[in-house]
Amino acid sequence: ENTKPTNFIHQVIEQDLEQGTNGGKVVTRFPPEPNGYLHIGHAKSICLNFGTAEKYNGECNLRFDDTNPTKEDQEYVDAIKSDVEWLGFKWAGEVRYASNYFDQFYEWAQHLVREGKAYVCDLSPEEAKEYRGWATEPGKDSPYRDRTPEENLDLLERMRKGEFDEGSCVLRAKIDMASSNMNLRDPILYRIRKESHHQTGDKWCIYPSYDFAHGQEDAIEGVTHSICTLEFADHRPLYEWFIENLPVPSQPRQYEFGRLNLNYTVTSKRKLKQLVDEGHVSGWNDPRMPTISGLRRRGYSPQAIRNFCDSLAVAKTDGTVDMAQFEYFVREDLDKNAPRAMCVVRPLKVTVTNYPEDQEEWFELPNHPKDESMGMRKVPFSRNLIIEQEDFAEVPPRKWKRLTQGVAVRLRGSYVITCEEVIKDAEGNVIELKCTYDPATKGANPEGYKAKGVVHWLSADNSVPCEVREYDRLFAEENPDGDKERDFLEFINPESLVLVEGSRCEVGLANAAVESRFQFERTGYFCVDSESSEDKLVFNRTVGLRDSWGK
Ligand code: ATP
Ligand code: MG
Ligand code: MG
Repeated sequence: ENTKPTNFIHQVIEQDLEQGTNGGKVVTRFPPEPNGYLHIGHAKSICLNFGTAEKYNGECNLRFDDTNPTKEDQEYVDAIKSDVEWLGFKWAGEVRYASNYFDQFYEWAQHLVREGKAYVCDLSPEEAKEYRGWATEPGKDSPYRDRTPEENLDLLERMRKGEFDEGSCVLRAKIDMASSNMNLRDPILYRIRKESHHQTGDKWCIYPSYDFAHGQEDAIEGVTHSICTLEFADHRPLYEWFIENLPVPSQPRQYEFGRLNLNYTVTSKRKLKQLVDEGHVSGWNDPRMPTISGLRRRGYSPQAIRNFCDSLAVAKTDGTVDMAQFEYFVREDLDKNAPRAMCVVRPLKVTVTNYPEDQEEWFELPNHPKDESMGMRKVPFSRNLIIEQEDFAEVPPRKWKRLTQGVAVRLRGSYVITCEEVIKDAEGNVIELKCTYDPATKGANPEGYKAKGVVHWLSADNSVPCEVREYDRLFAEENPDGDKERDFLEFINPESLVLVEGSRCEVGLANAAVESRFQFERTGYFCVDSESSEDKLVFNRTVGLRDSWGK
């Protein structure tokens, strides 16, 4: 049993529960912006938010933080819901949208205006930036800062009605232009965006900023612990300012934890979108993407992803986790749960010359070497077989445990064969092995008999053709984002996908369901791709049996 990783959020909650804060309730939320697909970093946040609610008998909401229609889309809303469900989490009640609360936000904006705590500012974005100043010196008050509440109420209403152009004015909170925290230098509450919104259509042409929306969403929903990533730590005073200065129905608190970064990949939505838009991958669910839908298609199970996330410390520092650690959890899960099968990825013909031409027999092999409950499967043996090309060497290296001329090797679960003759084509490529089998070796070695090794095999005719997609890490470089001089795209691994045609697998896999996962013996973990059809089985390599990236 692994030691439990530290989780400071749980410590906070346990203290709150002890003190009876929030009436002993725990409500969390997972608040994605629907501007892209979820990735492995989001999975950490999902496991933390939903897992925390589960642990303390609370609730977790799924809420779309959809305050910026420019980059958002219904496609992302749908994908996010399906990813969260696939991971096995259930949100409390209906899905929520920040846009459900737009009327309320607008009323609260008017409230601040009436109290003299917000004003409409006509500075251009460039001017506003100049007025804001730098962290080391105070900013300057906007010349529009002293407009009266009446004038501001009127201007705000006219902004809402669409009387002004995009960018011509914004609503700002009146806080402190000299604050050492830049977020408190009269932050923007509303911007004009004359764009249709995926939920509210054309009802609004002004949209709240993240800061003006997020804490209030939490308060409306009765969220007790609002967990976000570290880059929002500087926003917390503003989060609290709104909660203090608005008649909100509850008092949520924000806590920040370290983002999950993984090496050999990128987890910024902007970069993932670029990979998709520029065709470097086949889509958001390309099996090389670190998106939940990509990992799913690659063959990662929800449990493996959750085990990985739960193994990570929840701390107040960002960290980069080694991809090998993620893959460890995938292998651990698949080793336990994936049935075994044989697939010959790059076939080499083997003729068993002393086996009768018209004969076929079926061997029974366990679906799992350590789990009898997974049952047995049957694999046909005949005179015409195939083995993996790389399991034969004409000139074997030292300690070779596979096939070479004159040496006996066991075909897994069946007979021992000896290679008697090597047939080559005109160019000298090995195209066939003529072998003999020893009937006395059926299933087990007779006393004193020693076969050198074990290889996997299939009947050449009674097996199923398939396509194998050998996936590997998308980037060949540990930190594709790390070189300021070079674009991350330059580090794409040219061998991240090797397409192999002409592979064959056991007959029993002919109707394997999309997404079913297997260990192909001696080869790796594979799953049935969603592009698989009755005419063409397609397998994706999830991960090899062992880490081959080790340094
Ligand atoms: P990106 O930086 O990829 O655009 P984001 O933070 O803008 O991501 P959101 O949709 O706002 O994306 O994220 C939803 C939630 O997931 C937020 O609470 C955010 O803090 C959290 N989250 C996003 N990325 C990570 C990460 N790498 N590790 C942990 N949590 C993350
Ligand atoms: Mg965000
Ligand atoms: Mg973002």
